[in-house]
Amino acid sequence: MMYRPLPRLERPCLAHILALVLLFSNLINGLQLRAADPAPPPTRNYWGDTNRFLDQQAIVLLGAAQEILAQSPPALPEPAQRRTALLLLDAVLHDAEAPKRAPVQEFFQRRMAQAALEIEQTRVERGAIIWKLYDHAFVVRTRTVTLAFDLTRAHSAGVAGFALPDALAARLVSPCDALFISHRHGDHADDWVAQQFISQGKPVVGPAELWSDRPFHDKLRHLSANSNEAHALPVQKGQHTLQVRVFPGHQGTDLVNHVFWVRTPEGLSFCHLGDQSNTEDFAWIDRLADHGPLDILLPNCWTPNPLRVIRGAKPALVIPGHENELGHSIDHREPYWLTYERFAGAGAPCVVMTWGEAFRYRVDPETDESR
Ligand SMILES: [Zn+2]
Repeated sequence: MMYRPLPRLERPCLAHILALVLLFSNLINGLQLRAADPAPPPTRNYWGDTNRFLDQQAIVLLGAAQEILAQSPPALPEPAQRRTALLLLDAVLHDAEAPKRAPVQEFFQRRMAQAALEIEQTRVERGAIIWKLYDHAFVVRTRTVTLAFDLTRAHSAGVAGFALPDALAARLVSPCDALFISHRHGDHADDWVAQQFISQGKPVVGPAELWSDRPFHDKLRHLSANSNEAHALPVQKGQHTLQVRVFPGHQGTDLVNHVFWVRTPEGLSFCHLGDQSNTEDFAWIDRLADHGPLDILLPNCWTPNPLRVIRGAKPALVIPGHENELGHSIDHREPYWLTYERFAGAGAPCVVMTWGEAFRYRVDPETDESR
């Protein structure tokens, strides 16, 4: 067999080099094009990680609720979509671990920071603005005064990361002229908040049993719980005076729960029920309206027979509170859906709100339907 030399490679000519450059540049361009193409998304799932799943679900549901609430602030008649948003909150907040979840903490703190900003910046020329805080706390502002009822930092939820930082709570305290505390339970009474008021020379009114073993007890105002007595309570260093009645309420059979009825210098009146829940007290609840016209009743949503309370007080408006106290067991973490059931057929307009929301009561006489 004859040996045949392999064909000699031809020396590369210019045409070959150009062809190779073209080939490589096409390849590189092709790669770049493919890199810019959107990669097909991986199928998202949370299999095996229930905790992360529930966190993500809280983000989605709270985000949806937030969006609806922002589009439909509290109003009368109630925008139908608000109920959907509040039911979404029920769903998220009836997870036993809710106060430990970062999305829940962020949702709560953001809403409270927004309320603090509004309270700092909002002037009221007529009527009143009522901010609902946690969980049965309200801040009420009229032209002359700002009242706080059962204001706490929300440590009752039992999770430090959920509670309001002191700096934020201080921003809620600072604009208020007086604090009314219904009873000693931690979801209504916060000693740090009370001492802030005291240090600013503002009255803190509560039952004598409250913090009776604390050094600042004698700095609290103890008004007698006598339905027929109207107390004059000076605020703003005597510049204005509130008229206060204290009704001798109870939580259950024994726990003293003061029901405050406060009349502002403009003649607007607000009645906060605390944790009123003793049916024997209907003896005076049934006659609440005898003490004069009531603008706004602020009942705990789970008070027994709320429709009877409303018949007794005859308020112009009802704003229930105490929903979703996260320190309570799931069965007593009162949901909005039950508030809607319990207050259906109330003989007064009813505004259901969540943390940080505000209702404008007779602020705009042209448009306000709560008149
Ligand atoms: Zn309570």
